[in-house]
Amino acid sequence: MPSSALFVQGLHASIGSVPILKGVDLQVPFGEVHAIMGPNGSGKSTLCHVLAGKPGYEVTGSIEVAGSSVDSLDVHQRAQAGLFQALQYPVEIPGLELEVFLEEAATALGVDPRQAAERISAQARRFDMERFLGRSVNGDLSGGEKKRSEVFQLAVLEPKVMVLDEIDSGLDIDSVREVAEAVNEMRTEDVAVLMITHYSRILNYVRPDRVHVLLNGVIVESGGPELADELEEGGYAAVRSRLGIAAPKTSDHTPKVSDLFTDTPFDL
Ligand code: ADP
Ligand code: MG
Repeated sequence: MPSSALFVQGLHASIGSVPILKGVDLQVPFGEVHAIMGPNGSGKSTLCHVLAGKPGYEVTGSIEVAGSSVDSLDVHQRAQAGLFQALQYPVEIPGLELEVFLEEAATALGVDPRQAAERISAQARRFDMERFLGRSVNGDLSGGEKKRSEVFQLAVLEPKVMVLDEIDSGLDIDSVREVAEAVNEMRTEDVAVLMITHYSRILNYVRPDRVHVLLNGVIVESGGPELADELEEGGYAAVRSRLGIAAPKTSDHTPKVSDLFTDTPFDL
């Protein structure tokens, strides 16, 4: 098995003429959890989308999953290669039972239907999701249950790389702990987890092996879990001042009216 589950080199991404990612290098070995931390607008969600192969970006650089390039693959093919993204806002699919949805998702990825059923029941036990299998996908779930369900769904698909975009956002403290437990449950030597987060709160429960700070589309600093503690204390301003990076102009953070009408929704 190659040691790196995810290997990213010189990743640039822009939308139209606007550069968003400006040369991201990242290496996540199998069995490790890495956190990407950054303020709003630093490019965290863009990084997730570009890794997952979402269309609409001009991308250069290279992305490898378990030693194979995924650069020319679309979202579905990247999922087949083992790269999955959990959404910041999980979608609800009324009327479609979770179990049926997962059987279809797994067979679409080439898993034999009987094996899919076995995986679903085994993972449902592991994540304590059995009572949700007959309910509609993400319907009538609390915030924390929805996020746990997302991690469970990914687990059934046996990812090599799991990219979690702000899985802690909008959750109360008990729900953060619940989701953190699900992420910890995923921590095995067969999976690499990339946890994207604005706040260090979830990192109190999921201790990452490495922390990377993303500012303005570039990873400006990487370190051990203590880097998250430092961010908790001094905020991103402390990192900027230590590295001599100018604070963004306030206009960078003010949504433009045109942003509100963009065809591609994104979180501010
Ligand atoms: P984060 O997730 O860190 O908050 P994003 O990746 O959502 O950051 O956004 C990074 C930057 O790219 C922001 O300045 C944002 O306004 C811009 N951006 C993101 N998506 C779009 C889009 N579809 N069209 C134009 N600009 C975008
Ligand atoms: Mg985001």
